[in-house]
Amino acid sequence: MHETLEDYEEDAGRMLDELYAIGAQSDGGTYRSLYDPSWVGARELIKGWMVERGLQVRVDPVGNIIGRLQGTTDAPIVATGSHMDTVRNGGRLDGAYGVVGSILAVGSLRRKLGKPARTLEVIVLCEEEGSRFTNHYWGSRSIVGQTTQLEAEESLDKAGVSLAGAMQELGLDPRNISSATRNDIGYFVELHVEQGGILEDEGLDLALVTAITGITRWDVTVTGEANHAGTTPMNLRRDALAGVAQMIADVENAAINAGPPAVATVGRLSVTPDQINVVPGQVRFTVELRTPDRNQQLATQSVIEQSLAATAAKRDLEIELKLQHDHEPVLMHAEVMNAIKTTLDSGGVPYRLLSSGAGHDTQIFSQIAKVGMIFTSSKAGISHSPLEDTDPRALGEGVAVLAGTLLKLAYRS
Ligand SMILES: [Zn+2]
Repeated sequence: MHETLEDYEEDAGRMLDELYAIGAQSDGGTYRSLYDPSWVGARELIKGWMVERGLQVRVDPVGNIIGRLQGTTDAPIVATGSHMDTVRNGGRLDGAYGVVGSILAVGSLRRKLGKPARTLEVIVLCEEEGSRFTNHYWGSRSIVGQTTQLEAEESLDKAGVSLAGAMQELGLDPRNISSATRNDIGYFVELHVEQGGILEDEGLDLALVTAITGITRWDVTVTGEANHAGTTPMNLRRDALAGVAQMIADVENAAINAGPPAVATVGRLSVTPDQINVVPGQVRFTVELRTPDRNQQLATQSVIEQSLAATAAKRDLEIELKLQHDHEPVLMHAEVMNAIKTTLDSGGVPYRLLSSGAGHDTQIFSQIAKVGMIFTSSKAGISHSPLEDTDPRALGEGVAVLAGTLLKLAYRS
């Protein structure tokens, strides 16, 4: 795989720079949000890259860009890709790397080997981040048939524009959303940056992803009694916030005791009445638990629920724990993992197995296809930031592994 490594490195770097420049923000980073002018600019650039490499290009009813290399059989197709949108002040690599890497990999396979047995498609997903509308995975969910015209009509951005209205402005008809659904995709492989610091910490460039994290979220309300902060002695208080302080430690301990890869976070907190001289009477907060291991997820869920209830009881506080969602981990498919692993093993670049702590379009595709992911290291583990960066050599290596994987899946029927 080393013969084209430098080409991949050079081409990926140049293309990522071009894409990053579209939607550049004056206060740093880039912002390409669904259906906005920078998104349209990126779409045109990406279509051009696909055409240059001899792919048949079309845009599906929701704006996913598809570059197709027709195969010689009717077998379910092999797809690869990632998302073209970014968060606000986003970086150069999240999503963009998989977009560029997929185009380079499929382009190079076509040039060297011609027609595959299974049709190969680069699918550039129109939306993953949910940063304009809150409709995460809009692109991939449309492909698996999980979106509707009603969802598009009901979703509004901050300016009050509906997702359906934004589609119409670009000439996309919301009545056709359901025809984005596909039933011909056999495989989906996504190349992505790690967005965490484990690979760099271990001096590795690449990882074979084993699973995408499960996520459990709760909304918690703790109620005590608001009272005068000067006249209420400590032993007569029912201070909701003091209780929640201990609950935050309970949540942290639950993840620490479960051990890696479990992580748990209290990320949002609101205090009532939120006054400097009043004992807090009520606190609402969120708890999020993530782990790619379903057994660990279930066990840690009950530890969190029981320890919060125990802390509330000890302090004479009322607690209401509302489970907001409980998403199971998504396991990568053995056949795809094996194709990636064989490619990695023959390439001689050291790697490790890793689960993803972030969500990806791949988890949506797992509902209709055999899926797999390749991670490339992130400098300092930083993502969703203008500081997002990866060693150019690692970027090239990731593309080479993707190409080798697609070769195994698509050229040998
Ligand atoms: Zn991403």
